[in-house]
Amino acid sequence: MDLLNDEQFMLRALALSKLALPNCRPNPPVGCVLVKDNTIVSEGYTQAPGLHHAEAQAISHYDGSLNDITAYVTLEPCSFVGRTPSCAHTLAGLNIKRVVVAMLDPDPRNSGKGIKVLTDAGIDVDIGVCHDEVGTFISPYLLP
Ligand SMILES: [Zn+2]
Repeated sequence: MDLLNDEQFMLRALALSKLALPNCRPNPPVGCVLVKDNTIVSEGYTQAPGLHHAEAQAISHYDGSLNDITAYVTLEPCSFVGRTPSCAHTLAGLNIKRVVVAMLDPDPRNSGKGIKVLTDAGIDVDIGVCHDEVGTFISPYLLP
């Protein structure tokens, strides 16, 4: 994997996540970019409760197949159905190629389950890109 590019794309996702505040509350402010051939093809961040999470927002703005897309997400995609469908299941169902996550979600409803949904579906997953930068921003908004 190309670590330099991974970091650049994750820092863009982090910048997007800051736009989610304050409307996303009580959900955590998350950012997502979709990348194809080393180019960002779509972006998203957490919308108001009941509306799209970052991943769903980015997907909704992209028309093509996700087969050759890498998604950079600042937080582990959700594995549980809350007000909106599970992002991990959505990404798995759309057969995305690879997902890069900055940090796991400490929320006990998720906490590794979102990653398992992705890996069980045969998706390549990398965890920890820009972990410290993302963690410094998002941690105050996460459940314990
Ligand atoms: Zn979600």
